[in-house]
Amino acid sequence: ETFDGFDFHPSLQEGLDAMGFNKPTPIQQQGIPQILKGKDLIACAQTGTGKTAAFILPVLNKIAQAESNELNTLIIAPTRELAIQIDQQIQGLAYFVGVSSIAIYGGGDGMAWEQQRKALEQGTEIVVATPGRLIALLAGGKINLNTLKHLVLDEADRMLDMGFSDDILKIINYLPKDRQTVLFSATMPPKIRQFSKKILNNPEEINI
Ligand code: AMP
Repeated sequence: ETFDGFDFHPSLQEGLDAMGFNKPTPIQQQGIPQILKGKDLIACAQTGTGKTAAFILPVLNKIAQAESNELNTLIIAPTRELAIQIDQQIQGLAYFVGVSSIAIYGGGDGMAWEQQRKALEQGTEIVVATPGRLIALLAGGKINLNTLKHLVLDEADRMLDMGFSDDILKIINYLPKDRQTVLFSATMPPKIRQFSKKILNNPEEINI
């Protein structure tokens, strides 16, 4: 009923308290243990269910326990607005953990782009990105994903509808094979199932 059962790092529990999250939502209750265990996961969940914290919390807990501060987690989202929202939720929950996260997206002014590049150069543990901008960074050698441990695809159905399928597969070619992959989608049409077969390894499945 509370978050106590997950035995989160004290700094992460402090973030939950500060955000006023007292009780896990169903997607959090079911998804967090799977992600903590290191399983690949395919989860069907809509906006408003607490899906963002369901993937952020276990990843932050792993980072809180790790010694290294290498780039560890990549979250891919369909739009700039969603990438910014996810990044803000990370900043809130991770406030006491001491984890850095940056949002990378296209369509901004020159200033935003310059800030994103500078932040990347300074190093970060989590990147939240839209597909097009991330491809540009990878192609330009501006980001190195060799140390990646977790990949999260958020709103995967929307990304496929927007035509990002090839871009995502291209991005995955830059990632280590022994990563953990988590896919969230509001709907589960056959094309999402086919797509997930290409990128997930023996996943657990959750439907909310
Ligand atoms: P999402 O479905 O990720 O878009 O989240 C919807 C809203 O619920 C966001 O504003 C979150 O901050 C909030 N939220 C997520 N998990 C919890 C929780 N366990 N308790 C209270 N609020 C939450």
